[in-house]
Amino acid sequence: MQSFDHLFTVKRMAYDKPLPQSDVWSPPFWEAARKHELRMQRCAGCGYVRFPPGPTCPRCLSPEASWELLSGRGRVWSWTVFHQLYYAGFKDELPYNVALVELEEGPRLYTNIVGIENGALREGLPVVVTFEQATDDFTIPHFRSADVAYS
Ligand code: ZN
Repeated sequence: MQSFDHLFTVKRMAYDKPLPQSDVWSPPFWEAARKHELRMQRCAGCGYVRFPPGPTCPRCLSPEASWELLSGRGRVWSWTVFHQLYYAGFKDELPYNVALVELEEGPRLYTNIVGIENGALREGLPVVVTFEQATDDFTIPHFRSADVAYS
């Protein structure tokens, strides 16, 4: 039987940034991201949208939830710019930003704002989700400015 493992090895080695650690609750999040969808758990009891994923609602403790498709729109809540190289995979991107985006639906998530100069970042900047396929298993949600045309 012919093996194609060498092809997949090459692809995995091409992405040398840290990857997410999937846990028992997060596979639906990553499955949606692979389809370029941003989905999070919405509580069936009170409607609260929560992130990161978990077994119960932090507001009403209901275990019932659905994985709702979100708008992908939000605003920069805070950010920092990394000048120090902590991971070799980022060497071509220094300095790069790490941002906390507050989604329209409420949750905040850590991400990178792509396609923008770090000096143009500001609190409240409207952003929309975009996706980077890192590996076969992980497609990473990033955000870009909603103020500028993006091709
Ligand atoms: Zn709830």
